[in-house]
Amino acid sequence: MNEHELNDELILLQNTIKDITNKFIKPRASEIDEEEEYPEDIFQVLKEHDLLGLFIEEKYEGTNLGILGTCVAIEEIAKHCSNSPLFLSIPLLASRPIAVAGSEEQKKHFLTSTAKGTIKCSLSMTEPHAGTDVANIKTRAVKDGDSWVINGQKTYCTGSSEADYIILGAKSDPGAGYEGLVFLIVPTNSEGFQVGRHERKMGMRGIPTCELVFENCRVPIENQIGEERTGFKTAMLGFNQARPAIGARGVGLAQGCLDYAIEYAKEREAFSRPIAKFQGIQLMIAEMFINIEAARLLVHKAARLIDNGNFGKEYAHHFSAAKSFSSDVAMKTSVDSIQILGGAGYMKDHPLERFMRDAKQLQIIEGTTQIQQILIAKNLLGY
Ligand SMILES: Cc1cc2nc3c(=O)[nH]c(=O)nc-3n(C[C@H](O)[C@H](O)[C@H](O)COP(=O)(O)OP(=O)(O)OC[C@H]3O[C@@H](n4cnc5c(N)ncnc54)[C@H](O)[C@@H]3O)c2cc1C
Repeated sequence: MNEHELNDELILLQNTIKDITNKFIKPRASEIDEEEEYPEDIFQVLKEHDLLGLFIEEKYEGTNLGILGTCVAIEEIAKHCSNSPLFLSIPLLASRPIAVAGSEEQKKHFLTSTAKGTIKCSLSMTEPHAGTDVANIKTRAVKDGDSWVINGQKTYCTGSSEADYIILGAKSDPGAGYEGLVFLIVPTNSEGFQVGRHERKMGMRGIPTCELVFENCRVPIENQIGEERTGFKTAMLGFNQARPAIGARGVGLAQGCLDYAIEYAKEREAFSRPIAKFQGIQLMIAEMFINIEAARLLVHKAARLIDNGNFGKEYAHHFSAAKSFSSDVAMKTSVDSIQILGGAGYMKDHPLERFMRDAKQLQIIEGTTQIQQILIAKNLLGY
């Protein structure tokens, strides 16, 4: 086996996910988008098949298939549905601060419950005035006796209206810049916490993205993750580990578009022959394939680095490359696959317009493409 091949365990996982996706997810994908319906049934299917703890160690009752296993699973699901992979990628992101910096007690409770599917968590960092500029968030956490008291407003928190806990980035010391950040675990039944507006989105319409409001919301001091003043570092180490999963969503989405376009091009005739016989179409298909293969290799390389314990700042350019390239490939492939279908591609009778709307999000979330490129350049230049 060379480093680009999957071992038997991961091939088995891939086949299992393929079957589950064909049986339960593919038939629901269009409806979830159309109806903006939270697909709790899909969450339950993944839970019943013990697939929610792929990235969680066995000692916390996960299946310990790592970030690579998680990416393999996400790619298979994303070939047909962009919403359902979020049942793996949101918990991966939300669990990272605890996995990186949490106490043993926090790990035991949150990682185990995430693996079993008995809780749902979302991660909230973004605020109306600060997304990329993480250090400039203003939601304030103030220590008061044995509690933290939180005040502020968050935006674009995905899955939050269904979550039991918010893993919250807040400012504990507004004068301390990057060092003034703390991560807190906020139960969503806390007094002073409210889910606000549900955003009306272009794509990814099955999983709600919401505003959060904190008004004198009090959580016990034990809900702090790691040391005070280390929140920014924890956030970056967490994002590093989560980025390949966004890449895998892009690879899956792009592969889904290519598979669909190939089938169509072989069937559709113009000038008395299948359009697949035209060189112009063939060149587009070849380019899609090259890009998808390259994106998948970047994602798998990044995932393997993390699974080998290499997810520090010095490796960040690999995670950013995997995330940004795969997101761009997803966007371009979705647009080009519509072109191959001609007018039909623009219509809702086919899944490609849905894929195109879903793909755009990948270039924005968890660090925009521009920010990933800046991170890559900074690492290469040694800044
Ligand atoms: C569907 C969706 C779901 C999301 N889910 C979550 C979630 O669950 N939790 C959460 O915390 N957040 C979430 N987000 C927020 C997301 O992470 C932010 O939108 C993203 O980080 C960008 O921040 P921003 O929107 O404030 O853009 P801004 O930071 O305002 O950026 C605007 C533009 O300026 C560019 N820019 C900014 N700074 C620089 C720079 N230094 N150099 C070059 N260009 C720059 C950006 O690349 C971008 O093109 C979600 C967003 C979306 C769209």
